[in-house]
Amino acid sequence: MSEKTKRVRRIGVLTSGGDAPGMNAAVRAVVREALTNNVECVGIRRGYNGLIHGDYYLMTGQEVSHILSHGGTVLYTARSEEFMTEEGRKRAVDICRFLGLDGLVAIGGDGTFRGALELSRLGLPVVGIPATIDNDVGCSNYTIGFDTACNTAIDCVDRLRDTMSSHERCSLVEVMGRRAGFLALYVGISVGATAVLLPERDLDFERDVLEPIREARFAGNTHFMLVVAEGVCMDEKFEGVHTVFDLGNKIKEAIGMKPTVTVLGHLQRGGKPTARDRETASRMGYRAVKALVEGRANLIIGTQKGKIEEIPIEDALKMKKSIQMERYDMLRDLQNRVPRH
Ligand code: ATP
Repeated sequence: MSEKTKRVRRIGVLTSGGDAPGMNAAVRAVVREALTNNVECVGIRRGYNGLIHGDYYLMTGQEVSHILSHGGTVLYTARSEEFMTEEGRKRAVDICRFLGLDGLVAIGGDGTFRGALELSRLGLPVVGIPATIDNDVGCSNYTIGFDTACNTAIDCVDRLRDTMSSHERCSLVEVMGRRAGFLALYVGISVGATAVLLPERDLDFERDVLEPIREARFAGNTHFMLVVAEGVCMDEKFEGVHTVFDLGNKIKEAIGMKPTVTVLGHLQRGGKPTARDRETASRMGYRAVKALVEGRANLIIGTQKGKIEEIPIEDALKMKKSIQMERYDMLRDLQNRVPRH
């Protein structure tokens, strides 16, 4: 800390947007690292809503004991329409001033960081921590919650496969991911899916759905597992298909086999965070407080090539992360197909 840097005495922490397993581990790390540095930590409930409405409490080291093994967030989370207005944000900053906050740690996704950027423009030092099961934050290779959500979805699909393969059925499983297909891709690779449908790709029903089923059937498979990201049907990537159930009907019409449709939905958000999520969240929370205490702010704590990095929020929000299409190609190569000559 330089001599000119104002001593940080009190910070706030909040979780915002969709909940993600591992958020609690990040909150714990923020609180404990703050207290280690003689900095008080105010927990703000329900994201930016709590900030606007003064829903907060002073956190102790004891009350974050053992929360790192729990999914969800002890601070609750919310989406705040009011915070989208200038008036709402001014009110939020007034509350921060009233509380004497020298900084704020905001844990969430891109939307949360856009909100954090606005707060920084109003003079509040902020640091963001990426936590979303979609893994769709451009500035960070990894977001807290992704690994747990993958493992939860894989566990569900494995169970489904046991029953569906016994009946020699076709399974169509929808996983979360409106604009990003990371979850679908990683789950698809890990369960050896017959086909994976990603929102990032231009899709063709014949090429991307029917052909993989036919190839697998020709190679001797009697059960077919199709993994589809929710954005595919929402964006009507196939004509006349608005839901995964429509997609199931379209497959039935084309090949006479009616897939059993399973929507994993909010199941994917819950559960005990994995080692990767607890460890990453702990490192990010620790680093966020270190940055504030050492006088650095208006950053996102991201991971790049496995290392924790501090990225200025404005730059971070411009960064894009593409889905790894080479993994998609690998998935196709690893499918059971009769070799072409
Ligand atoms: P997830 O990836 O899980 O959806 P997220 O952080 O992207 O998480 P959002 O709902 O997009 O979730 O954003 C959370 C909150 O951040 C919003 O409810 C809103 O209050 C605030 N926010 C989002 N975008 C902006 C913006 N452009 N300006 C100010 N605040 C914003």
